[in-house]
Amino acid sequence: MAAAIIDGKAFAEGLRGRVAAAIPAFAAAIGRAPGLAVVLVGEDPASQVYVRSKHKATVAAGMESFEHRLPATASQAELIALVERLNVDETVDGILVQLPLPAGMDEKAVIAAIDPAKDVDGFHVINSGKLAVGDADALVPCTPLGCLMLLKDRLGDLSGLEAVVIGRSNIVGKPMAQLLLQESCTVTIAHSRTRDLPAVVRRADIVVAAVGRPDMVKGDWLKPGATVIDVGINRVATEDGKGHLTGDVDFASAADIAGAITPVPGGVGPMTIAVLLRNTLVAAHRRAGLEAPKGL
Ligand code: NAD
Repeated sequence: MAAAIIDGKAFAEGLRGRVAAAIPAFAAAIGRAPGLAVVLVGEDPASQVYVRSKHKATVAAGMESFEHRLPATASQAELIALVERLNVDETVDGILVQLPLPAGMDEKAVIAAIDPAKDVDGFHVINSGKLAVGDADALVPCTPLGCLMLLKDRLGDLSGLEAVVIGRSNIVGKPMAQLLLQESCTVTIAHSRTRDLPAVVRRADIVVAAVGRPDMVKGDWLKPGATVIDVGINRVATEDGKGHLTGDVDFASAADIAGAITPVPGGVGPMTIAVLLRNTLVAAHRRAGLEAPKGL
């Protein structure tokens, strides 16, 4: 194995520590800690796990965590009414509606109901528009912002590098491409209709894989020395029935060719919640008319 391992777990712990360190000054200035409201609709088991870990991390950072659970039978109007109450609640700085929503609910309409200043997931069209035009005020989706932090920590200046983002979702692929463009990378977005994906990936100094296909990107697709960020979280079956997690990159073959690579688990995954806390802290400062702490 030639590649250095990019330790997202350690970086995320550091970020969470920096966020926690900034809370007392905010609380002293405003009279309360920043607050994050998480809304979960229905009983999706993976979503329940995510919401629980978000709650624990929020409390551990010294922020206020507000959990709201609605039954799967709740109507879209009830959900939007809850979001509207949270929009005007002064103690709430961030609102996150856990996706996916139960079938029949219109995710776009629900996200559109969130106050963009409290949209700590960065999914509101106002925030994606701000990101697209390079407005520093944008709240940026947590997973791609976490990937960018790892890349800058590893590579420093990204200017002029060839970056290939595999996947064009609104949650990961598209905002990732926007962030890399802002860093003056030459960006290609590859997706399910891309022709000769291995040849496209072979051009890249930076590869970000956000596909949802276990071990798809092979070592011989990579330019030697490339930096590889594996966003994929795929649970694959094992003979003992327990299953295990794997990324979108075939780690064993990629680690022989890449210069640096994120593992799964322990790479991008832990960054997402850490950036959520960072976004909540930033949103809280902006809403209070305070300058957000630097270096987050
Ligand atoms: P998505 O299903 O919305 O998008 C997948 C993208 O991959 C699509 O744009 C599609 O065009 C592309 N694609 C599909 N098959 C392809 C192929 N054969 N070749 C090239 N491109 C192909 O998924 P998403 O929400 O962007 O998530 C992607 C992965 O990242 C999933 O494994 C998900 O679990 C993971 N994820 C991880 C985190 C985290 O915190 N680490 C956060 C979000 C998503």
